[in-house]
Amino acid sequence: MIDYDLHIHTEYCGHATGMTVAAILERAEAMGLSSIAITDHIFSHDDHAVIQKIRADVAAYGPALKVYVGAEVDVDYEHTDGRFVTDTFEGLDLVIAGFHYVPTVGNYPHSPQDNTLNAEEFLQHWHDSLLGIVSNPNVDILAHPGRLLAAGVDLDVHFEDALCIFAEAAALSAQNNIAWEINEMTGCRLLPQWWGQWHRIYETALAEGVKLVYGSDAHAPEAIGTHEYVDMILAKLPKNCLARPEEILTLKKKNK
Ligand SMILES: [Zn+2]
Ligand SMILES: [Zn+2]
Repeated sequence: MIDYDLHIHTEYCGHATGMTVAAILERAEAMGLSSIAITDHIFSHDDHAVIQKIRADVAAYGPALKVYVGAEVDVDYEHTDGRFVTDTFEGLDLVIAGFHYVPTVGNYPHSPQDNTLNAEEFLQHWHDSLLGIVSNPNVDILAHPGRLLAAGVDLDVHFEDALCIFAEAAALSAQNNIAWEINEMTGCRLLPQWWGQWHRIYETALAEGVKLVYGSDAHAPEAIGTHEYVDMILAKLPKNCLARPEEILTLKKKNK
């Protein structure tokens, strides 16, 4: 059993009904988790205020477990260099990089048909953005690697090329002590025929010495700490390859 969860949203983001900070902490305590990270979206610089509101809510509750207050900071889709929507990372215990939208276009494609860039152009922007993201030492965790790729291109054609790009990204991630997330919600976003392949992304990470961590990406209390899809991926990876939250956070501190 995994006793932590490093990716949880709150109802302040507007699409996570019932996720008050108190409801999150009650659920985490009831599940016996030892630590969690509350990581709501930062879509623009102004959203830092929301994160500090969450910090105040956590303090008011006084949880029995370790709680990191961080954010899933969005990549700025107006550029293709992987820069973020804010330059400020102070006041965040944990920074998760959220690469959600097609660079230069700005939508979340629900299928490759929904992606107005052609595959070559998309892959070039995806490559440039991804390498930019993992070159940023402020980042602690790369959220759901490959989710945007799966949404935006036909994986039957482009998966092997993408794995080479992941290998480049893994080398940079290792240099910058950026862990890669095994994300439970990705199981709902990915076509089932790809479930059996997704561990290969994490194999490229492990080969370069990148640490792997778990996050549910919960938008509802009952999703906190759940890891059915994650267990399926872990079953195909070396035993005990999941890192502890303390490991990745201590590494960062040493280097900051
Ligand atoms: Zn995300
Ligand atoms: Zn998320």
